[in-house]
Amino acid sequence: MPATAFSQYYARELDVEQLAWLLTHTQPVGGQQSIPDLSAWADWIRADIQCSSCGKRGAQIVRPSKARGTKTVVRQAHFRFTDQSGGNAHHPFCEFYTADETMRQPDSLINFGAEKSVETRAVRTLICKGIEQKIFDQAAVRAMRQWFFDLKSSTRFTVTASPQIVDWAQQLQRHPSYHRWEFHPAQADMPAFDWKAAAKFQFTEENLTLIECAKRVVHDDAHWKRARDLSERHFAHEVFDTTVLQPFYDKSLALCAFVGKNSKISFSKTRPEYFRFNQAPAPLLALCALMLFVSDWDLNVAIGKFAKLLNAPEPADFSHGNVIGLNPFHDYAAWRLITLATEVEAKSSAGIDYAAQLLSIESRLRQNYAIWKSTQAATGV
Ligand SMILES: [Zn+2]
Repeated sequence: MPATAFSQYYARELDVEQLAWLLTHTQPVGGQQSIPDLSAWADWIRADIQCSSCGKRGAQIVRPSKARGTKTVVRQAHFRFTDQSGGNAHHPFCEFYTADETMRQPDSLINFGAEKSVETRAVRTLICKGIEQKIFDQAAVRAMRQWFFDLKSSTRFTVTASPQIVDWAQQLQRHPSYHRWEFHPAQADMPAFDWKAAAKFQFTEENLTLIECAKRVVHDDAHWKRARDLSERHFAHEVFDTTVLQPFYDKSLALCAFVGKNSKISFSKTRPEYFRFNQAPAPLLALCALMLFVSDWDLNVAIGKFAKLLNAPEPADFSHGNVIGLNPFHDYAAWRLITLATEVEAKSSAGIDYAAQLLSIESRLRQNYAIWKSTQAATGV
């Protein structure tokens, strides 16, 4: 359930409390957090407030509740989006569609207001500057979220890569294929001949196209693990097609690396050269996507705006940074691997069991050797 939502009228992301203050023109006294009765505004809220992810309307206020006889808040105030018949109004692909009553914030959302890390703090200052310099506003942040949501949901695909298929693609990617070696039975006469290594070399010879296909997109184990989890959860279901994001992802990464190198700000412990290997810090990536979005995805226009941002004076009001941003490329790497695994599987004519294939090749080589050995004996060599 979203803790914040977007008000069309106020053109910004608000939590229930902030909305209540604005509607009733009252501020809480002495820091006391209470939410006035908003039932008079119920229709207005339904029509004005939008889900920050999918943009659907139909918001209701869910008031906070406390544990009986205590002051402990067991449920924070939040928005619930319902349709005319009282059902879930979110788009089925919305990150809040399956969210329960807990206040879970989806991983794809970045709270720039929460100064959790150095990475977020540096970007937060830039967000404040950007709003003060009118380079973007909260409505642009909201518009970008909707734009990405519509782009992804307009192209969907059904996940056909099972976790086993993902494993197979990962094994092919990890398979050592640089060094090539052709087997000849005479080699096996060596006293310590390595049959396992011979089987691997032979596997390379027989599956070279497949291996090259699997090595096209190189990722680390964490992304493979995430891809496996996603395939397990979404197998045979329809999902967003994140591959449509590729040109936007590549541009955002390029901007991230350029800004990382040329801004005098340290955004991350990772060197900017490594950002392109899916190592870019998420808050900076989200800001770069936003800068490109307000620059019609023109890299140099975005760089010009970044220069203006970096040269602007310190922001007067840090509360501007209270923006919930979107990392539009959340899980992008993992989804890309799922697509890759699907392609690899379609080209696999001999099954997807790596270990079994190596064993079968080894036994074939041993047979070849045995035949060769018997002919050698027969001809008396
Ligand atoms: Zn939604």
